[in-house]
Amino acid sequence: MFHSVRTRLTLWYAGVMVLSLIAFALLIYYAAAASFQQRQDESLLSTAQTVASAYVEELEEQHSLTKASQVVLAELAFPNRYVQVIDNTGKPMAASKNLPAVISIPSTTLAQAREQSSSFVTTNNLRVAVVPLSAGQDLGFATVAESLSVIEEGLRTLRRYFFGGVPIVLLLATAGGYFLARKSLSPIASMDRQTQRISAENLAARLDVTNPRDELGRLAITINDVFGRLENAFKEQQRFIADASHELRTPLAVLRGETEVALTRTRTVEEYQDSLSLIKDEAERLSRIVEDLFMLARQPIDTPASTVSEPVCLNDAVRDCVRAAQVLAAQKGVRLESETNVESIVLNGDEDMIKRMILNLLDNAVKFTPKDGEIRVRLSRQNGNAQIVVRDTGIGIPQAAQLRVFDRFFRVGKTRSRALGGAGLGLSIAAWIVEAHRGTINVDSAPGEGSKFTVELPTADR
Ligand code: ADP
Repeated sequence: MFHSVRTRLTLWYAGVMVLSLIAFALLIYYAAAASFQQRQDESLLSTAQTVASAYVEELEEQHSLTKASQVVLAELAFPNRYVQVIDNTGKPMAASKNLPAVISIPSTTLAQAREQSSSFVTTNNLRVAVVPLSAGQDLGFATVAESLSVIEEGLRTLRRYFFGGVPIVLLLATAGGYFLARKSLSPIASMDRQTQRISAENLAARLDVTNPRDELGRLAITINDVFGRLENAFKEQQRFIADASHELRTPLAVLRGETEVALTRTRTVEEYQDSLSLIKDEAERLSRIVEDLFMLARQPIDTPASTVSEPVCLNDAVRDCVRAAQVLAAQKGVRLESETNVESIVLNGDEDMIKRMILNLLDNAVKFTPKDGEIRVRLSRQNGNAQIVVRDTGIGIPQAAQLRVFDRFFRVGKTRSRALGGAGLGLSIAAWIVEAHRGTINVDSAPGEGSKFTVELPTADR
């Protein structure tokens, strides 16, 4: 039950509510207590002052202290209040009839009353106001007292209201909090149900977006984006597997066919040699494809940030690759020339990958350039970037296919390039390597005239 956000929200809400209500009740209670006391003091003081002035007036008429006291106390009767007249030493001179016992006032209170013309003291559960009597000379003090239970009564009522009211308010607030939590979380519950329904089988399904501008709408859009990316990755992977198995199927079929034919009867040594050399070629092609597939399988994992990064001298890399390709070109009767005599260009990256990319371009150039053709490789610096251009005078690539040559498994004229040993992976690997080094690769070609591949890579000193 406590794992539900709704319950936790409600409990938090109730907790905060309890604390606020208690704090509020305490504040009100102490403010009320202070105000009750102040009112009692004011009222007691005013009564004491009335007694004092009446006393002084009476004294002037009667000229006798005891008489004046009696007259005043007989005239001024206050329900629930006790009046007592005392002399300068605190000895009682007269008291109202309702006074149960003598109220003794501490001498410090008397001194204070004399000094400040009034003072208060709490004694025997009584609140007492003391006012000096003076008619030319100090005659004593008028004291008026009232029980503290008068205030206590008011506070008790207040406490009753609080003890009764706070739980009711809390109950209502908690119910309201629960309702609000339920209401605001219900779209999440619905999103949860919809998300659970989306699986690998129906990755194309999406969550409903009720209001794209509120938080939940934005969350739904983000989740839908993730589903979109997952769907694409999933489709891409399925296509990759389908294409890869298709590519592997042909050489495997050739291998099987060739061995089956060779085994049907006893053959001459030459026939066996022919068969074995064909099997060797197909096996080599298979290993190349498998190697490329391995390389591509790393692709989604090896983002640019995770590739090896070390200084690579491009002049050396291009020179090594040209030397390797020279063997193939010479076999085919194609001229291969390079211009790498610029100042040394260094970039940060993975040397093996860079070489592989250049070799793929050179390999294609040799493959698709007929005898007596020419291939030129140029390394230079362009706008602060390193630029590698591989240009050939080969068969070229039709305009429509130029956009797709960097796609996996794409080949112009499938049979033609399969005969040359390619599975359509070389350029997609090259493009991925260039991308991993934050560079660009472009093709410019005209059928029958030749092709030009241009790679630009950011250098280490940029
Ligand atoms: P492959 O392994 O088949 O060569 P690539 O990805 O390297 O695959 O190339 C894709 C296709 O682009 C090739 O099959 C070929 O048709 C075309 N292509 C690549 N480079 C050249 C080039 N220099 N001249 C003509 N066509 C090319």
